[in-house]
Amino acid sequence: MTQKSRKGGERKGGACSFCGTPADQAPLMFNGGDGAMICSTCIEHGYDLLVEHNIVAGGKSKDAAEKSGFKPLRKEDLMRPDRIKSFLDDYVIGQDSAKRYMSVAVYNHYKRVISKGCTGDIELDKSNIVLVGPTGTGKTLMARTIARLLNVPFTIVDATALTEAGYVGEDVESILSRLLQAADYDVEAAERGIIFIDEIDKIARKGDNPSITRDVSGEGVQQALLKILEGSVVNVPPQGGRKHPDQKYIQVNTSNILFICGGAFDGIEKKIAKRLNTNAIGYGSTLKQRIDEKNIMQYILPQDLRSYGLIPELIGRLPVLTYMEPLSKEALRSILTEPKNSIIRQYEMLMGLDDIKLTWDDDVLDYIVDKAIEYKLGARGLRSICEAIMMDVMFELPTGGEHRITLEYARPRIDKLA
Ligand code: ADP
Repeated sequence: MTQKSRKGGERKGGACSFCGTPADQAPLMFNGGDGAMICSTCIEHGYDLLVEHNIVAGGKSKDAAEKSGFKPLRKEDLMRPDRIKSFLDDYVIGQDSAKRYMSVAVYNHYKRVISKGCTGDIELDKSNIVLVGPTGTGKTLMARTIARLLNVPFTIVDATALTEAGYVGEDVESILSRLLQAADYDVEAAERGIIFIDEIDKIARKGDNPSITRDVSGEGVQQALLKILEGSVVNVPPQGGRKHPDQKYIQVNTSNILFICGGAFDGIEKKIAKRLNTNAIGYGSTLKQRIDEKNIMQYILPQDLRSYGLIPELIGRLPVLTYMEPLSKEALRSILTEPKNSIIRQYEMLMGLDDIKLTWDDDVLDYIVDKAIEYKLGARGLRSICEAIMMDVMFELPTGGEHRITLEYARPRIDKLA
């Protein structure tokens, strides 16, 4: 490249040989030999491609960061905890206690991010969260809804797929590759994103490790997670996968990334009950009487996660602990119809796009809920049951007008799933 001209400066006329932008309209034009030219926008796109293909390390160009659509958070955009909770109420049924904890934790976290540098000598700690509760009760939904509210990049990773470096499986750093991808390689946006780590209970310590190919004890993965949870600058392979020496990395600072961990922690109630009973000794029967035996989860404390096999250092980095309740019949019925993007509303919308007004008889909805409970699928089962009912309708697409789903129509289709 021999010379450059700003806004067509030294070299009048001509256009970018790649995109055809005239020299006087390009922010900056570089001139090559034989009259070839390239504008700065094409160079930026080229740079992004190099990053994407691991040829150079680095974040996306400013242009691309704007394109990712993740705007920086401003104090005035941050909702108060009670407003965050009412936003959650539109999407997540029940789970009042978890919603309150989450709203406060998320508010504090982003207040900390926004006010960085204004807090003088006081370092505000991160508010990473653990959500304990049965599968299909809305843990992922809650995390996803918060990310949508804040318009921050969001990714879900499965803790069981992670392994300690050196074992077969995904490196812990691959979590950050996923977030970068969700942020469209806008590093700054990724650095304030939310990562949902599912099945955190499955990496609990389980005693001696008999495997040499995979760290099944989980403790190694817990150790590896510590670094990224507490906040550090991590070299991330942009495309994920294993790290190798020749690879170019993108540096990601995790100190403002919010981690939400979810897990069913099957059987933890026993550990909670055992602790409560042990504590009750010496205080007479009064404390025992006050314990609501039906909902033991409400008494969960960090030490119960420890007895379950999470290491204390990890628990220390997940200071907000809350629980999700099993979904009752009434809650499942509400989940079908009430949330803003409820399953029933989604089907109505889908059919509406073909000018079909879809209606459901009440007894169909009751039957769907009964079957979801029978199949022990929780809210996850609702969609597969609805899909079984709707399959033929969606295939045949009745022509216009109203289409009513009756129990007579739905029942055989649902029963086929058994
Ligand atoms: P978990 O992460 O607890 O296993 P998910 O959040 O993935 O469960 O829930 C699976 C699906 O069930 C969600 O996509 C959502 O449609 C529905 N669902 C689960 N719990 C609720 C809830 N409390 N309110 C509304 N929908 C829910």
